[in-house]
Amino acid sequence: MKLPTCTTCDRPAAWLRPWDRVRLCKMHFNEAFLKRVQKTINRYRLFERNDRIAVGVSGGKDSVVLLDTIVRLQKKHHTEVIAITIDEGISGYREDGLKYAKMAAERAGVEHRVFSFKDRFGSTLDDALIILEQNGQRLGACAYCGVFRRKLLNEAARIVEADKVATGHNADDEAQTILMNLLRGDILKTFRSDPVPRFKDPLFVPRVKPFRWTTEQEIVLYAHFNNLPYQEMPCPNSVEAHRGIIREIMTQYMEHSPDALFSILSSADKLFELVQNGKNGLVVPENPTPCKGCGEPSATGMCKACAIQSKIAKQKRLKIS
Ligand code: SF4
Ligand code: ZN
Repeated sequence: MKLPTCTTCDRPAAWLRPWDRVRLCKMHFNEAFLKRVQKTINRYRLFERNDRIAVGVSGGKDSVVLLDTIVRLQKKHHTEVIAITIDEGISGYREDGLKYAKMAAERAGVEHRVFSFKDRFGSTLDDALIILEQNGQRLGACAYCGVFRRKLLNEAARIVEADKVATGHNADDEAQTILMNLLRGDILKTFRSDPVPRFKDPLFVPRVKPFRWTTEQEIVLYAHFNNLPYQEMPCPNSVEAHRGIIREIMTQYMEHSPDALFSILSSADKLFELVQNGKNGLVVPENPTPCKGCGEPSATGMCKACAIQSKIAKQKRLKIS
């Protein structure tokens, strides 16, 4: 039986792209993959000449592939790339991620720096959760982790003197987040994941998402075709029930409409444009003000990380007395 060939050349097809039924061999898959990421970078002007780009590398598939991609694409540009990893202190999980992050940085030939919750905030995530649990105040692990990680990522980017921080959020993540905000009645929250960094503050290093239009499936394939090892084990805390349900619904829906992900992203982009052009009186999130605790940019008077840290400190004091 003759195997189907690539739509562009005579090599055997390695993937049938679901949304336009184009068949791609490995070589043309790689070419299309890089082209799409470059298009995203150009579309939102994510990088500028002479930028120093910090890539957040957790060791998972998205970040490992992102580092490889950015290094390949930026070869032609006058930019510098550095890998940074946040060590949350999640026992039995983060150790392995660090190993893969280190491997990815070595392979890409870039400097790699690790920043830990323990060094910066005085407790690992595991310890902080135990302390907060005792106080009966514990929310989901991700709620705390996300707050601390965003803050540390920003500080780390400043320490390494980066102009931008690139993260591996992919099209699936972004579309899920938009739908989740919509279903929670909080569509305005979507503006926080605006692909074009809008907040201007000398202390805030703009975060950019070059994989906004790249699907999870493409990222897994790219890692596979290019022999990029990554941590497959998910974080033990990652039971985000709500996101799981959205993911299932979307998977089912996309069996009939494989380009639904892109429709959701296009809708969000149209909203961003409306807000940017101020055409409909939508409220643009306020510019940040300095946090009373640490001086970092914050939407309210005190950043969430400082608020949680003060809870942890209070709990520790109670324990001692
Ligand atoms: Fe942190 Fe939650 Fe991600 Fe685990 S799944 S690394 S706890 S945000
Ligand atoms: Zn081909």
